[in-house]
Amino acid sequence: MSRFLSREAAVLDPYTPGEQPQDQQYVKLNTNESPFPPSPKVIEALSRAEAEKLNLYSDPTCKQLNAALAQRYGLRPEQVLTGNGSDELLAFTVRAFCGEGKGIAYADITYGFYKVWARLYGLASRVVPLREDFSLCVEDYFGGGETVLIANPNAPTGMAVSPTEIRRLLKENPNRVVVVDEAYVDFGAESCVPLIPEYQNLLVIGTFSKSRNLAGARIGFAMGPEELIADVNRVKYSFNPYNVNRLSLTAGAAAMADETYFLSCTAEIQKTRAFTVRELEALGFTVLPSRANFVFAKSDRIPGGDLYRRLKADGILVRHFDAPRIEDYCRITVGSREQMETLVTGVKKILEV
Ligand code: PMP
Repeated sequence: MSRFLSREAAVLDPYTPGEQPQDQQYVKLNTNESPFPPSPKVIEALSRAEAEKLNLYSDPTCKQLNAALAQRYGLRPEQVLTGNGSDELLAFTVRAFCGEGKGIAYADITYGFYKVWARLYGLASRVVPLREDFSLCVEDYFGGGETVLIANPNAPTGMAVSPTEIRRLLKENPNRVVVVDEAYVDFGAESCVPLIPEYQNLLVIGTFSKSRNLAGARIGFAMGPEELIADVNRVKYSFNPYNVNRLSLTAGAAAMADETYFLSCTAEIQKTRAFTVRELEALGFTVLPSRANFVFAKSDRIPGGDLYRRLKADGILVRHFDAPRIEDYCRITVGSREQMETLVTGVKKILEV
């Protein structure tokens, strides 16, 4: 820390992203990226002609991409807002609806960034424990005044809560915003987007990073009632109006035009997830019921931290969280079938079976 650091920045507790080591080629199963390249339509769209326009700012309204998203999700373009990754939109959203006297509520085990934003904005946080089996009980959120942030499916557990349950939460709490972070919804969970026309207090956040194979393009989107989207836009235009760059806008629109590729990639991941779960269970692992592109698994035969370190030494990267309740587990991204076969072989070697 330099002597110039502000008091506000000194109290921050920054998010630690998954490792991106450059020292060797790893089988990289630690940041829930897609093992598949972007759609061929994306590659085609990122032409020289597009690169030659980089002297001009991108469209701050993200008109074309918002229109494509609105059409895909059965919404009006005014009900959609695009951002530089869903992390940015979540940060804008928390700024829009939380502040002095307006706290935030989230699960004890969930996406680690939520508590970072709470700290960034100096918010009062209500941390709501998941049940013993890591499922989320919406009733635990009833009655408070905070904005609710729910990752669905949750990370790092992969477990999902049904839109019927989210509907109960929305109905019981009409005077607070409920944000559903659907980063992983396309791998077999049910989306809450169809609830948007019915509720004034629902905001759904999506991303191109997982199911659209575009983590490096940094594209996220928010969907909700027009008034909530306008509120988040206030923050965006107070922070970074040209938040999505030209090449990413082009890539995003091209990805939206290839639903067939999206469906085949997400189906393949689900198939490979089933294979991974079968193999790990056969090795005696407990695997939580995942609806995401990762599994959360533990073995009685080796502590989670040891498994992570030994796999890393063998060139396989997974994620371990040294945190209460989950220190026995590793989060393993579902990659290609070949990558998962390598993982299983690696685990067998470590367990000597
Ligand atoms: N939400 C959840 C639950 C996540 O796991 C992630 C990925 N780290 C994000 C949001 C952010 O994704 P991105 O910024 O790449 O859209």
